[in-house]
Amino acid sequence: ATRAMIARRQQLLGPAYRLFYENPVHVVRGEGVWLYDPDGNAYLDVYNNVACVGHCHPRVVEAIARQASVLNTHTRYLHDLVLDYAERLLSYFPPDLGHVMFTCTGSEANDLALRIAKAHSGGSGFIVTQNAYHGVTDVLAGMSPSLGASMVLGDHVRIVPAPDTYRSGGDVGSAFAEHVEAAIGDLARSGVRPAALIVDTIFSSDGIFPDPTGLLKPAVEAIRRAGGLFIADEVQPGFGRTGSHMWGFARHGIVPDLVSLGKPMGNGHPVAGLVARPEVLSTFGARMRYFNTFGGNPVSCAAGMAVLDVIEGEALLGNARRTGEYLRTGLDELAARHALIGDVRAAGLFVGVELVREHSTREPASEAAARVVNGLRERRILISTAGPNGNVLKIRPPLVFTCENANVFLAALDDTLAEIERI
Ligand code: PMP
Repeated sequence: ATRAMIARRQQLLGPAYRLFYENPVHVVRGEGVWLYDPDGNAYLDVYNNVACVGHCHPRVVEAIARQASVLNTHTRYLHDLVLDYAERLLSYFPPDLGHVMFTCTGSEANDLALRIAKAHSGGSGFIVTQNAYHGVTDVLAGMSPSLGASMVLGDHVRIVPAPDTYRSGGDVGSAFAEHVEAAIGDLARSGVRPAALIVDTIFSSDGIFPDPTGLLKPAVEAIRRAGGLFIADEVQPGFGRTGSHMWGFARHGIVPDLVSLGKPMGNGHPVAGLVARPEVLSTFGARMRYFNTFGGNPVSCAAGMAVLDVIEGEALLGNARRTGEYLRTGLDELAARHALIGDVRAAGLFVGVELVREHSTREPASEAAARVVNGLRERRILISTAGPNGNVLKIRPPLVFTCENANVFLAALDDTLAEIERI
């Protein structure tokens, strides 16, 4: 049945999409940290940051249904909910970030961020990390090296290595800033002024590098000295995932010029946005108008508001911190027993486990990582990989993940690693 469905999918949706796992999972229902297939089998979701407060959380479902039955329209009329939600959302940001513009996807938020950065800085150059992903539009795809070697990067794009704490010692923050400065110099030699440095503040697709806190500071100072802005892409780390703060950038003691939000914001309902410093937005606002038909519609705002209510009401930052620490301890214990594990990196419930062929060479164990992911899937545990070599296990469960859930995952990972090491 699964094979027939895959064939039908390809016939109808065309060849551009990829499914997770050698044996793709057919899901029909979600609840909390669990996804269910048509036979009623439960899969532990250890990957999905979209369902940030848990799949189909009743509070969010109810808010969406209630608002959908009262009013849903585009955003050229006055309605309260967009204002109430904007006010609530901005209350989680430093006072310098005083405006929010709503979009439907993280890509739209990033695309808007680029336009605003160009208008404000007068520059046109962008600096991204080596294996970054920032979105689906043509321009963003042209600055998302993670899409593959065949991806043609834009002329005004420069790439810098991520602060890889596993492979380089010393002060990774200073080193990262030096790379940014070199990229600014390189742009200048092509007659291009920088518009912005855009960074996923936990370096998700680069392999997950959360530490040390504060590491982004020198790079942010460097781009500002050159007249460019700093855009924090919070699509992955945002909304409390790191356990200590609502936003990844806050761990680094910086206040960005623009912050893009997405994925977890509506717990699956398409809600996204761009938070901005008013002075940065003023240049763009004076020259251009922005309209996004579905951005900030009443149902999206109701969903977003409910997500914030649940994050607060269920104290999910605290849970992310505690469960994250528990998970990390368990992973460190596995690392002591399994030679495949070279490094464990974590902030709250955003965890990377880097697999290597040998500890001395740190050679990426890409094939083994794929085998672990598929082996876990056969044990009905869902994760994925990150990093330029796909050798970093990407662990990013809903924030309602419990220590009991962590035990299930750790036991399955232990078992899977042992099986692979036997081969
Ligand atoms: N930025 C980052 C860091 C992302 O991970 C993603 C989505 N994977 C995006 C932007 C784009 O978001 P969307 O898919 O909602 O357009």
